[in-house]
Amino acid sequence: MRIRVLGNGGFLNDGLPYNCFCIDDTFLIDAPPDVMLSLKSRNVDFTGINRIFISHFHGDHYFGMPFFVLNLFSHYLHTGDSVRPIQIIGQRGLRKALIQIQELATSPDNPSVAFIDRVFRFTEIDSFSEVALDGGRRLIFHEMTHSKPCYGFSVVEKDEIRLTFLCDTKWSDSIACLLSRRPRLVLCDLNARPGDKIREHMSQADIMEKAVPITGTATRYVGVHLWRAAEEGRGPLTYARVGDEYEI
Ligand SMILES: [Zn+2]
Ligand SMILES: [Zn+2]
Repeated sequence: MRIRVLGNGGFLNDGLPYNCFCIDDTFLIDAPPDVMLSLKSRNVDFTGINRIFISHFHGDHYFGMPFFVLNLFSHYLHTGDSVRPIQIIGQRGLRKALIQIQELATSPDNPSVAFIDRVFRFTEIDSFSEVALDGGRRLIFHEMTHSKPCYGFSVVEKDEIRLTFLCDTKWSDSIACLLSRRPRLVLCDLNARPGDKIREHMSQADIMEKAVPITGTATRYVGVHLWRAAEEGRGPLTYARVGDEYEI
């Protein structure tokens, strides 16, 4: 399983491409406004995406969907290829949210709106859901502590957590509980800045002082959803840069 960082910036950031990554170039995790640019710049063929996860309905995580959908619609229109279905995974209301934003971004009678039901197979999840992946792996989902309902996930193989994605979140007891399973790799929201007036995200201190004592060195942490370009990491913590790849 290969993870590629396509973007590493949070909603508030200092000019970074918005947070986005993909697994094996076919599973897209979140669709920020600049998703088409990020896919292109890392040579990921958008027509090869067969699964998408949308963590929550903040603009930096799904405002790229109208661009993805319209480009895909145009691709099929011009090639005449038969439409390959894409599994799209997200919380309840996902289909409605995608149609709303497609209508807003284009127009209610734009054919890309009807295309949504042709191309997507909707999997609406909660924290009790599981989704089967190839190779006997499965996805499980974790509710984040955020200003809107938001989900992270883990990829589990033979009861071992290979990858955990902690999307926009503050530190919580449920994260501590999850980390006690010692995931191999954790991609974690580190958008907090010293002196933030509103605390919505985790910080390096949360990882070093709360997470690492639970997992020891068995778990590697990669900071994503950053507010400025990567700083030096410490111990098992590094910061994602666009184009980074992790094989797990
Ligand atoms: Zn965000
Ligand atoms: Zn958010």
